Parts: sequence; C-alpha cells; structure tokens
Amino acid sequence: MEVLEDVGLAFHDLSDIIETPPMGPSQRRYANAVAIVETKHDPETLLGLLKGVEQAFGNRRGQRWGARALDLDIILWNGGVWASPRLTIPHAAFRERTFVLAPARQIAGDWRDPITGLSVQHLHARLTRQQPATRWASAPGCKNSSGNARNP
Ligand code: AMP
Repeated sequence: MEVLEDVGLAFHDLSDIIETPPMGPSQRRYANAVAIVETKHDPETLLGLLKGVEQAFGNRRGQRWGARALDLDIILWNGGVWASPRLTIPHAAFRERTFVLAPARQIAGDWRDPITGLSVQHLHARLTRQQPATRWASAPGCKNSSGNARNP
C-alpha cells in the first residue's frame, strides 16, 4: 500500500484479503483484495503507474498465467465507461470473477456497473447464486442414483 501511496493514490477503503486457488497453469494460490482509491490522474496515467508498480514487484512483461507477484487492475471508476486500445473500464472480466466481486462487495456493494446497470452486490449475488440441481434426463436407458433405468 505504501508503494501505491508513493505514486499518488489516496486510500479510502480496503477490503479483506481473500485467498483463492490459482487460475490457469500457475501453481500458487493468490491473495485478492479491492481498494477504493482517489487520484488526480486520468485512468490511462493511473494504469501506467500501476504497471510500473507491478514491474517493481518483479513481474515480467507478457507473463499471463505464470506465478505473477502482483496484478493490479482498474475495475470501476467514477467516470462511467472508458474504452481505449490500452484500457477498458469496467474491467472486461470483473462480472465473472468471484475473487473480484467478493472483496468489492465489502467496500463498494452499491457501486454500479455502467454497462449492465447492476450494483456490485447484485453482480456478486448473480454469480454465486446456487445453480438449480441437474435434472435426470428422460432419455431411454438413463439411470437414476439407485442404478434403475428411468425409461427402460
Ligand atoms: P493484466 O493481464 O492484468 O496484466 O493486463 C494486461 C493488459 O490489460 C494491461 O497492460 C492493460 O493494457 C490491459 N487492460 C485493459 N483494461 C484494463 C483494466 N481495466 N485494468 C488493468 N489492465 C487493463
């Protein structure tokens, strides 16, 4: 956090740190957190600062699913949508990532996604809602859990 304050970010709130299993081929577990920060920089300048901090932490360029030391993303900002070749806000994948929405919900549950109009709270609930139980198919020969065929 000090290093982010050193590049001009003021922390307003910080979520708990949530541990999650690795994505892709990486072997390491990840610690995820979300912060609300204020900055005088525009989003593109902020992205450049964040990438500089990542590199200072030892990330190598182009390393996608490897064991990266630090990954700093911009999820939402108070200016709505930002779309440039280098930067997309809201973050393109945040609606499908529990490890983003769970900590975000703690500190920014009422922030709205400008694309769907849904709050962070709502997006999290939608993602984590229990899926309906799989129904037994009624195709001939399909067996239930007792091993009996439904439509012999
Ligand atoms: P990453 O995989 O998180 O290291 O990001 C790779 C690239 O995604 C960055 O170098 C950015 O140019 C781009 N990018 C696009 N939108 C975002 C965003 N909202 N936050 C962070 N990076 C972004």
